[in-house]
Amino acid sequence: MSSSPLNILVTGGAGYIGSHTAHQLIDAGHRVTVVDTLYSGHLWAIPENAAFHQIDAGNREGMLEIMRANAFDAIIHFAGHIVVPESVEHPGKYYQNNVVASFNLIECAQKSGIGLFVFSSSAAVYGNPPSIPVNENAPLAPINPYGRTKLITEWTLQDIASGSSSNKPLRYVALRYFNVAGAQIEGHLGQSTPEATHLIKVACEAACQKRSGVEIFGTDYDTPDGTCIRDYIHVEDLAAAHLKALDYLGAGEPSTIINCGYGHGYSVRQVLDTVQKINGTNFPIQESKRRAGDPAQLIADNQKIHDLLQWKPRYDSLEVICETALNWERNGNQSVSLTR
Ligand code: UDP
Repeated sequence: MSSSPLNILVTGGAGYIGSHTAHQLIDAGHRVTVVDTLYSGHLWAIPENAAFHQIDAGNREGMLEIMRANAFDAIIHFAGHIVVPESVEHPGKYYQNNVVASFNLIECAQKSGIGLFVFSSSAAVYGNPPSIPVNENAPLAPINPYGRTKLITEWTLQDIASGSSSNKPLRYVALRYFNVAGAQIEGHLGQSTPEATHLIKVACEAACQKRSGVEIFGTDYDTPDGTCIRDYIHVEDLAAAHLKALDYLGAGEPSTIINCGYGHGYSVRQVLDTVQKINGTNFPIQESKRRAGDPAQLIADNQKIHDLLQWKPRYDSLEVICETALNWERNGNQSVSLTR
């Protein structure tokens, strides 16, 4: 491990990205406490050696108590809702859980003197970027409630960090995730969201005949094959970025915002072709109309994460992403025990 062990609070640590990160933190020798409502997370996903509290990260009283009982060095805040179309349909749910709860958590961290904060932000803060790849200084113009809730929390962190007057001022890294997918290489962890909406998960479910097929939402975008392009990043590489962000903050570096992506993208059709090829059989694909809130293209300019965090991706391959996701869908997803 490159730095001394830390005592880390992980909100949403039973969820998809949170659990992969929690396992990497434990493997790196850190102490981990997970808080999660288990709304979309799973007990089995929490590392055995982590402490666990089933609680909403925005519950001020409860969180203050947990913070008082533990001398946390840092918080990694994953907990939140993540489905763009749902945020369009139920914006209040997103403002409550992503904005209000995050604000409460940040204030509790301040009150408790926890100085380091890593936040799960999103490329959705860019909306339809004027140029591709998009760097961190691009205009912030989210086109859906999900993206706005992430941007508001970035601003909350920025304002609270610059207003910090305690002897342990808040410093943060906001990681703007592009499209995370895939599963742990060893096959013990993966995405288990019920009623999933994310493309690679949906395609893998179709490949495993857990759904009848896949709809392509829009074939008339201004892209080479008419379908949307996204920068898909393997969940283990994304999890590793959080450990790098902690190293960065631990070294006393200033607050910052960093894109997490590979710097190249694939269309919806390319993703579906890849999953079908790996699976060896085709599933029905239906062309449908555009989905609300979808930008045509999102690809990261990832120079900053390389330069500032010395992050070195290990799984930059659409095939590896789809293969691990498919393997999880076929094997891991059903075989996990429901107890801890
Ligand atoms: N998509 C699709 N069919 C699906 C799910 C997603 O065509 O069943 C498209 C979606 O419209 C977007 C891309 O795949 O263009 C990525 O969507 P996803 O929901 O995976 O992630 P998002 O970019 O919304 O975070």
